[in-house]
Formats: sequence, structure tokens, C-alpha cells
Amino acid sequence: VSEKQTLGFQAEVKQLLQLMIHSLYSNKEIFLRELVSNASDAADKLRFEAINNGALFENDPELKIKVAFDKAARTITISDNGIGMSRDEAISHLGTIAKSGTKEFFSKLSGDQQKDAALIGQFGVGFYSAFIIADKITVDTRRAGASATEGVRWESAGAGDFSIEAIDKPSRGTDITLHLREGEDEYLSAWKLKSIIRKYSDHISLPIVMQKEEWDEEKKETVVKDEFETVNQASALWARNKSDITEEQYVEFYKHVSHDFEAPLTYTHNRVEGRSEYTQLLYVPSRAPFDLWDRNKRGGIKLYVKRVFIMDDAEQLMPVYLRFVKGVIDSSDLPLNVSREILQESRDVRVIREGSTKRVLGLLEELANSDDQAQKDKYASFWKEFGQVLKEGIGEDAGNKERIAKLLRFASTSNADGNGSEAQTVSFADYIGRMKEGQDKIYYATGETFAAAKNSPHLEIFRKKGVEVLLLTDRVDEWMLSFLQDFEGKELASVAKGGLDLGTLEDEAEKKQHEETETQFKDLVEKMKGALADKAKDVRVTFRLTDSPACLVADENELSGNLLRMLKAAGQ
Ligand code: ADP
Ligand code: MG
Repeated sequence: VSEKQTLGFQAEVKQLLQLMIHSLYSNKEIFLRELVSNASDAADKLRFEAINNGALFENDPELKIKVAFDKAARTITISDNGIGMSRDEAISHLGTIAKSGTKEFFSKLSGDQQKDAALIGQFGVGFYSAFIIADKITVDTRRAGASATEGVRWESAGAGDFSIEAIDKPSRGTDITLHLREGEDEYLSAWKLKSIIRKYSDHISLPIVMQKEEWDEEKKETVVKDEFETVNQASALWARNKSDITEEQYVEFYKHVSHDFEAPLTYTHNRVEGRSEYTQLLYVPSRAPFDLWDRNKRGGIKLYVKRVFIMDDAEQLMPVYLRFVKGVIDSSDLPLNVSREILQESRDVRVIREGSTKRVLGLLEELANSDDQAQKDKYASFWKEFGQVLKEGIGEDAGNKERIAKLLRFASTSNADGNGSEAQTVSFADYIGRMKEGQDKIYYATGETFAAAKNSPHLEIFRKKGVEVLLLTDRVDEWMLSFLQDFEGKELASVAKGGLDLGTLEDEAEKKQHEETETQFKDLVEKMKGALADKAKDVRVTFRLTDSPACLVADENELSGNLLRMLKAAGQ
């Protein structure tokens, strides 16, 4: 028998606990949502492991979540018969934070409680939120398939450490007991607990049960019966009819699948029938996650097959450039024992991915093209958070390139009274609508920073002629442009490349004058060519500058200066 052992929390957990207890106090009932959400995840994991090992169900196949309270002891207990935890799992899952980007997240905290509270919400709170109302938490757990003597008791007062010891636990799964803080007795009420469950956890597909209470006429008090009642609807939310689901239920379900604390920006829910049958419930978050740029990060789609949870982060179901989308896809066609390897090859999966991609693009188009200002604002907010990722789609998804191109937004010289503004709000269609008589190209300038792009000497002639120029300064832009030569038949042209031909924008008188000037400076140009022979490929008289005396331009078929700098920086 192993003795009780005391272990310290990871530094970030200590910080999280501190912050949470203070900053989420006004929102404390979410503890129940978080614990129920974990119990539901634990049931999903058991069901999945049991596909290949039915013995894991032991003699207890009906998965459920039980919520109970003890007025005298001042405790609330949330029990599940899900996968449970081994000793090692309890130590790592309830003593550290597994999320990638955790360190960076904590380094961003300012110490200003108000600001940090908002950040904490974004980070997701989870199990530790129970310490908002509990000054001690006891977790008794036993992993499915392990013997009754292999139970584990984890206990902590939420300060710096927790204890762990071996216990006997005949029933599989996890019981979490909250010892309430002084003054939190309002939660010791069936009515209160039920109303919180209905508010936040109605969408959970497992039954959440509580003991029935009844008024006893003789005793003149409510007595707790031995019977249980199911408090939630207990059916998979995505399988219900749209008309039976409230906005609030959609939002709470999002928080459950995404582990996000904020409401989503928008979502789409559909049942697809025909060659491939599946249901999709897909959400676009309001805010980019901390690990949006993490290359190892998988997507946010949970895959179910006929209501049975198969896997989290099924990255094959969504292209990489839509990796921010969260939600559930439930297929009727895939086999239950499907693996990541099979997903890679499956034709059904390809059909689902294509269908889901189109749905998400449609959802974004709805926002972008709406006449409603609130919807438009949503698109602007989406673009700010995820625009750079969506741009990857131009290179990644040739089939949807045109649709994605319409969704792109740029900074432009036309913003803010022609001085340019960093806000990326101009679409190609906006640009085309403002093109000058005779202009046939879409002009853009790239730069490492907005200031560099905006102040480029290449823009002088465009300013003079009143021609708008898109200002592209995101890291992905040059790469994206290599996949995007034109938009609706209008060539995309860099202001910094080759013999700039402003076409009919140049009037006849100007042309004549240019020719005269060229002849006049012919000797000088020849001399300069000689002097710069090993430095410049060519020297030309230019008409594109109005204030600067000279500038460097790239050849039409060459990489631009900015891309060259990027490649050099990347060691190529
Ligand atoms: P998250 O749910 O976002 O992973 P939490 O803080 O809510 O983060 O939970 C941390 C981890 O603890 C879970 O990922 C899971 O591995 C484990 N865990 C929590 N509750 C349970 C439970 N009831 N049964 C099994 N494992 C659990
Ligand atoms: Mg959780």
C-alpha cells in the first residue's frame, strides 16, 4: 500500500488558481459546467476505448453523470462512470496545464486584475474553476479496466500543493467532491443545482441525474428519495432539430467543445444527405487562440460516428487554413474503428472535408456580404483575428481560390483620406469599383511594415495620378501573391516591378514628353550603366517618381526586394 504523498503544482497552475479565485468570482456557477463537461469527455473517451475492448464497460454499461449534495457536510459531489484516471494521469492532468502556449499566456498577464480576468476567460478555466467555491477538493478516481485496489485519491486546498494516495474504488470513473467555502451554501440546493445544469449543460448527451426530492406531508419537510431523475435533455445537441435548439444552447455547446469561455462569432448547423451522410455543427470563434501559429496544433473538430465519439482534433476534416473552426462532425458512413491513418485515405472523409470547407466559406461570405452593419462588423472582427490564416487558403486550396480571394481584405492608400491606414478593410471588389478610367490592373505595394509600404517611393506616381494601391505587409502576403496572379480578369501588379505601364492612364502629351526626356538623358544613362555594371542590371530614366531622385526596382520576372529579404532571413 503506497503512502500519502504531497506534490507541488506547476507554477502556472498556482498562478491560474490565484487569478481565478479573484477574477471569476462574479461568475462562479460555471464550476458545474466545467466539471460536467469533463465528466462528459471522460464518458466519450471510455466509449471510444471500449470499441476495441468491450471489457472496459465492466458491468456498468450505462454511462451517466450524477450530481449530489450533502447539506450537513457542506459538500457537492459530481460523479461519472467514464474513463477515470490512473495515478500518473491524476498527477499530470490535475497538477499541470497541458495546453500549448501556456507559458506565453502567463507571461502576458499584467497583474491588473480586470484585464487579466478577461484573458483568463479566453484561456479556458476547466477543473481548477471549482476552487472558486471550494476550499478543498477531493477527487476519487479509478481507471476503466484497472482493479478495485488501484483507485487514487487526489486532494488539494488549492494553494501550492496536492496530495495523492492509493484507495480502494470498486466503481469505475471519477467522483469529485467540493468542500464549499464559507458563504457558498446557496449551492446546497437541488433547485439551484438543477437550474445551473439546465442553463449550461442541457446539451450534454449523457443523462445528468440527481436524486428526487419530495414534500413529506407528515414530516412537513422535503425528503430526498432513493429515486433518480434526469435533469437535462440528454440527447446529442447536433442531432436535434435546429428549431428545437435555442441560441443559448448553441453557445453553451460551443463552450463545451471548444473549451473556450467566450461565445462564438458565428456557427452553422446542417444535416447533409445524399452520397455521404453526416451532420456538421461548426463554429467560428470570436478570438484567435494562443496557439494559432503552432504548427503541431491539430484542428478543432470532434469526430463522431453515429453519435459515438471517435476523436478530438480530427485534422483531416478541415483544411489547415480553416484550423480555427471548432465543432462536431457526425458521420453515418465511417466505420466505428476508424483511425487517423484510415481518415487520411478515406473518400468519405474527403467528401466531408470538401462539404465542410464550402459551409465555412459560405458562413464567412454571409457575414462579409451582409447589408446589416452588425454582420459586417462581425466580418471585420473575424478578419482581424483570422485573416492572415485565411490567406493561406489561396495557396492551399486551389479549388476555392476565387471564393477565398473575394473574402480577402487589405490596407490601401484609399483608406483614411488617401494617407493610408493600417486597417485591412478593402476588398478587391471595392478596389475595382474605384479604378480609374482606363486602368486595367490592380496595383499593390508590399513591405515589411505598414510604414515602409506606405512611404515607398514607388507610390509617388500613383498618388499623382490618383490611382489606389493596396498595401500588403503581412508575412504571408508575398507567398500568397505567388498563387494569385489576377482577380476577375484584372492582373495584380506590383508597383515595384519592371517597366511600369500605367497604360492609357498616361496621356499622349506625357508620352511625347517622356520620349524627349529619354533622348536628352541618353548619354548620362549610358555612363551610369557602365559605372554600375556589376551592381545594376539596367539603368533607366524613370517617370514614376515625383519627389525622390532615384529608386531601385526589381525585374518583372524576379523576386521582389521584400521577398528576397524574407528568404535571406530564413537562411535560403
Ligand atoms: P480540459 O478539459 O480543457 O482538458 P480541465 O482543466 O477541465 O481541462 O481538465 C484537465 C484534465 O483532467 C482533462 O483533460 C482530463 O484529462 C482530466 N480530467 C478532469 N476531469 C476528469 C474526469 N471526470 N474523468 C477523467 N479525467 C478527468
Ligand atoms: Mg474541461
